[in-house]
Amino acid sequence: MSRLVVVSNRVPAAGKGQQAGGLAVALLAALQKNGGLWLGWSGKSSGAHEPGPPEFRQEGKIAYALTDLSRKDIDEYYAGFANSVLWPLCHYRLDLTDYARKDMAGYFRVNRFFAHQLAPMIEPDDLVWVHDYHMIPMAAELRQMGVKNRLGFFLHIPWPPPDVFFALPVHETILRGLASYDVVGFQTQFDADNFAHCLVREGIGKALSDGWCEAYGRRFRVGVFPIGIDTAAFAAQAKKAIRTSELDRIAKSFVDRDLIVGVDRLDYSKGIPQRIEAFERFIDTNPAYRGRATLLQITPKSRSDVLNYAQIQREVAELAGRVNGALGSLDWVPIRYVNRSISQSVLAGIYRLGRVGLVTPMRDGMNLVAKEYVAAQDPENPGVLVLSRFAGAAREMNGALLVNPYDLDAVSNAIAQALSMSLESRKERWQRMMTHLLEHDISRWCGDFLDALGAGAEARRQAEDRRPAA
Ligand code: UDP
Repeated sequence: MSRLVVVSNRVPAAGKGQQAGGLAVALLAALQKNGGLWLGWSGKSSGAHEPGPPEFRQEGKIAYALTDLSRKDIDEYYAGFANSVLWPLCHYRLDLTDYARKDMAGYFRVNRFFAHQLAPMIEPDDLVWVHDYHMIPMAAELRQMGVKNRLGFFLHIPWPPPDVFFALPVHETILRGLASYDVVGFQTQFDADNFAHCLVREGIGKALSDGWCEAYGRRFRVGVFPIGIDTAAFAAQAKKAIRTSELDRIAKSFVDRDLIVGVDRLDYSKGIPQRIEAFERFIDTNPAYRGRATLLQITPKSRSDVLNYAQIQREVAELAGRVNGALGSLDWVPIRYVNRSISQSVLAGIYRLGRVGLVTPMRDGMNLVAKEYVAAQDPENPGVLVLSRFAGAAREMNGALLVNPYDLDAVSNAIAQALSMSLESRKERWQRMMTHLLEHDISRWCGDFLDALGAGAEARRQAEDRRPAA
């Protein structure tokens, strides 16, 4: 069986005795199965020095290769091109892209650097799985060095339509980079179609049948692999969390209140200001909930060194303050805004307390919070998911109340509908979503992608076995 090599910008804290997220757990299980290597950035800076060779750590059958990056690399590759160009572009926010040639050069330079580190470690039969927008050029770099292995790529964020994507000055290089993989995976059919349209529109490539594409002289598979969560484990965690003294304390602080929960990294794609305004509209138009409904918005800081993030941080804090000032009373704070990270074990319990999960991104690749909220519910008394139609999760969560996050009245109405929904409807909607989530969990996602990536390897091996010996 092939060994698995995972490449991602950040290598999760797994192995350091910290809690690993669902994705890390699934990838670690896949790596553990046949032995594996995980390569990426350590998250640390080497300052002004050029980064040195990777630091190796072996845990069981998994080897980690972690590299520091110089300050310049971090500024240009990570804060620059990845997070100030690709991230806003892929979230349809051309107005926020901040394109600079030196950042673009830094992005390709760091990818070449990682590829040079990785190439000598790759064995002939290895499957290489590259993750996310930071690492798109990895395959092209490896191919240039003569690597012939099966290379797969999964994009965790959305892929935009051609007119948005072609605003990127180096769009051809990015497309050529993706065409160097054997399998390119997206979260939804919508993203995969957008990508295929990009190839076809400018005559760069062709969309063939059965999810195959051809471009730059290569044929590769374009697949849809909606990422899941570790559903059963998350549900068990929520059930356990609710019995802890910490959750008991939190629950008491909301006694006699209808709790609406929002959980998002502080990012402009998450629609937090619009959500706060929709909540304000809901209270204005449903006075019976004045003094009764509370929005608990948990929003850890993120990418604070990127300019647009500092701005959204200020905007959300000011808006929450204004709404609380305008609506609040001596014994009721309408919005509880928590600007730090909460552990998943506590989050699981908070989701379960929430009568409404309010997940209203303006654009999101998948949105795992939506799935976690559903998994955490009490089957006998589940809450209602209000979900943006622009989240990848909306394609799957067919028991949610889908909303257009730009339409504040629609979001406000959905909150009211969710809070007044009968137990029977809530149970029926929840059951539909939970059945789907249990079946399409993170290990299924991981297996599906690896099957697609390995399928070609297996066919090639069989062809080689059939070849008569020279
Ligand atoms: N999360 C967390 N603590 C927090 C806020 C969020 O552990 O205080 C986790 C959350 O449980 C989820 C992830 O962060 O697993 C967010 O994933 P999602 O796909 O919703 O959005 P992303 O941040 O990847 O854009």
